[in-house]
Amino acid sequence: MDEAKVYAHLQKIAVQFNAWRGRLPALIEFLRFSMGADAPETAALDHFLRKESTQRELVKFEVALWRGPDKSYRLISLAVTGDPEVARRRLAHKPTSATQCSWCHQDEKSFAPVALRPELNIFRNPVPCRFLHPQCAHSWELMRRMVERDDLTARNN
Ligand SMILES: [Zn+2]
Repeated sequence: MDEAKVYAHLQKIAVQFNAWRGRLPALIEFLRFSMGADAPETAALDHFLRKESTQRELVKFEVALWRGPDKSYRLISLAVTGDPEVARRRLAHKPTSATQCSWCHQDEKSFAPVALRPELNIFRNPVPCRFLHPQCAHSWELMRRMVERDDLTARNN
């Protein structure tokens, strides 16, 4: 299997959907459609996507893939915008409930206590009403740091 090609297509699908949630066979169907003639067999992809090493490797492609506590799979784009204004808007957006991840907006409902962690400020105190999947937290933090840097530059000019 051309693993690099599978990763690249998963990255493309993650960007397209931004935050996808569903059953693995559905994701494999998207992937096989995306890869066309190059697509590996369904069974091979099923095995490959379930592997922890695959899920770890995907982070290098700014993609998070994991199976949530409700047994559904998530495919989340971890790509951080380069535009401080876009980042500012995203950071200002208030989640509709405390069971929603601030980065990918997926709602974990009754699974929230196991699936999400509070965002911590620089003093390691929880930020009110900010919860994140551990998989999404790094991108959120990068975005927050970018805006802080941008504010600092604006103040110094
Ligand atoms: Zn998330």
